[in-house]
Amino acid sequence: MAYQLQVSAKILSWPRQCACCGGEANAELRAAASRTTGKRVQHTTTSWWHVPYCNSCLHHKAQYDEASKWAGRAIAGGLGAWVLIAWLTGSGWFGFAVCIGLACLGFWHQSKEQEEAQKLMCENCSAPSDAVRYVGWHGTFHTFVFENKTYLENFMASNSRKTMSDVRQL
Ligand SMILES: [Zn+2]
Ligand SMILES: [Zn+2]
Repeated sequence: MAYQLQVSAKILSWPRQCACCGGEANAELRAAASRTTGKRVQHTTTSWWHVPYCNSCLHHKAQYDEASKWAGRAIAGGLGAWVLIAWLTGSGWFGFAVCIGLACLGFWHQSKEQEEAQKLMCENCSAPSDAVRYVGWHGTFHTFVFENKTYLENFMASNSRKTMSDVRQL
């Protein structure tokens, strides 16, 4: 379960505890969002907040994010192999079979690696990857998705003087 919240502020106060497990924060993570404006000339603006984390949660998050790249890599490799084999042999079918095989292997490897990363989580951890996601902003309104309900409640208490939307369960 994740919780979406909008808050209007220039400066936000982040409770000094890990956004994932609620333990003591001894590290932080940049939660960034990008926005592209303009039709002919496009400008991409990136904005971010530093979210408190603990070292062990940063560790499982990094591991999980790394694991999540495997399927994409395997598909890219499979497509490359397909093109190469088709070019070498003049037939598309064998390359296609290799491509599908590699993609399946990639998905299988990815889920195994993700499982490994999830084993690094402690029982209070709320998400294998980002515990707070910065979705974007509109004017002074910032949208976040929180995975940890207790952290969200503490965040709302720390920023109680600011204008906030209702919490929406995702
Ligand atoms: Zn933690
Ligand atoms: Zn964690």
